[in-house]
Amino acid sequence: MGTLYIVATPIGNLEDISKRALRALAEVDLILCEDTRVTKKLLDHYQIKTPTLSYHQHSKLQKIERVINFLKEGKNLALVSDAGTPGISDPGGKLVKKVIESLSSSVKIVPIPGPSAISAIAGISGFPMDKFLFLGFPPAKKKRKKFFEEIINAKYLVVFYESPHRIIKSLNELGIMNEELKIVVCRELTKKFETIYRGKIKEVIKQIEKDIIKGEFVVIVDKR
Ligand code: SAM
Repeated sequence: MGTLYIVATPIGNLEDISKRALRALAEVDLILCEDTRVTKKLLDHYQIKTPTLSYHQHSKLQKIERVINFLKEGKNLALVSDAGTPGISDPGGKLVKKVIESLSSSVKIVPIPGPSAISAIAGISGFPMDKFLFLGFPPAKKKRKKFFEEIINAKYLVVFYESPHRIIKSLNELGIMNEELKIVVCRELTKKFETIYRGKIKEVIKQIEKDIIKGEFVVIVDKR
């Protein structure tokens, strides 16, 4: 039986990858990628020639079976997502679940930990991050109010992800519910246009609106 390595990759800066992750990516038989074009940039940068196969949330059962057969044949595989730790708000978790269901304890699933937008923002927040709630992305349409109410009513600090198209909309929706919220918003962590906004929610909205609203965002909300 082969081994499935769950490999964390950079969330921007290509140097944020461990030696162990690079060795695994170079030595496995196949790399399962959320988007092969995105992973190719990382592989090219490190001159890794391992073949890749796309694996995403719409992958058919047939593809999952192919992956399971590779493992049965003794092939070693690495699973990566476009950025960060596979399985956190990306399709990685679904594959791991299927592999566990199909092969149970006979398969070895090995983590190769590394970057994640969650740990990156937690480290620079200045908030006490010993307890927090992670809620992923706010829903696009239905259940948005419920999502933001959950943040307002949470006992702990809340971390969530957001896209550039909706960051202002989401922060406004939250700000209407409680304008005293203190937040940290990080844009493009580890990349050229990395920006960290801190303060009361309304001030932060104003700061973000002054900039070009592009890139990836992660948010921490503190309501104490
Ligand atoms: N698995 C990834 C992880 O471990 O962070 C998260 C995948 S999720 C599909 C992608 C979201 O993570 C982005 O939309 C953004 O909210 C957040 N994110 C990823 N990279 C980021 C970065 N460099 N700066 C800020 N947020 C980032």
